[in-house]
Amino acid sequence: MKSRDLAQEYLDKTDDEILRLARDRAQLTPEANTALNDELTRRRIDSKERMPALDQAEIRSLEDVPGVARMAARQEFLLRWYKPVAIAPFMVVLFIVLRLFPKSTSRIPIYFVFASLVWTGAVIGYSFFLMFALRCPVCGWRFGSRDKCSSCGLPRHRSIAGVDEISKMWT
Ligand SMILES: [Zn+2]
Repeated sequence: MKSRDLAQEYLDKTDDEILRLARDRAQLTPEANTALNDELTRRRIDSKERMPALDQAEIRSLEDVPGVARMAARQEFLLRWYKPVAIAPFMVVLFIVLRLFPKSTSRIPIYFVFASLVWTGAVIGYSFFLMFALRCPVCGWRFGSRDKCSSCGLPRHRSIAGVDEISKMWT
């Protein structure tokens, strides 16, 4: 595409469309980048200043924000699997120690029991940390383990339909 055509094309776009292009700059050709810069200058748009607002408007769920999505996924995993993850190692160690070393005077079995208890504590501690650290990316409210932000209603998942499809896969 000729640079004059590009300039005309950008002229017809809305501010938001221009900002979106600026955000995904890496995918543009050098000519397109130049035309985009000209258009940003013409409109007196400071893309660095406006970009966060644009991103904010495009957040439709926790899953749209990579860092937050990772935390939310870990939190959900722990809520679902905390028994095997946190408690099972302790039970297994306790069982082995009582079964195989019932009269042992060595301290080593005790160390294993202690280590598995530390693990249990760490998993529970991390779950609590996630509970408090997971904040709504739109309003900053504590998200907790709910499916929706209790302040602005931002859903945890991208769409309810998507969740239904996933649960169908498991049933
Ligand atoms: Zn919120």
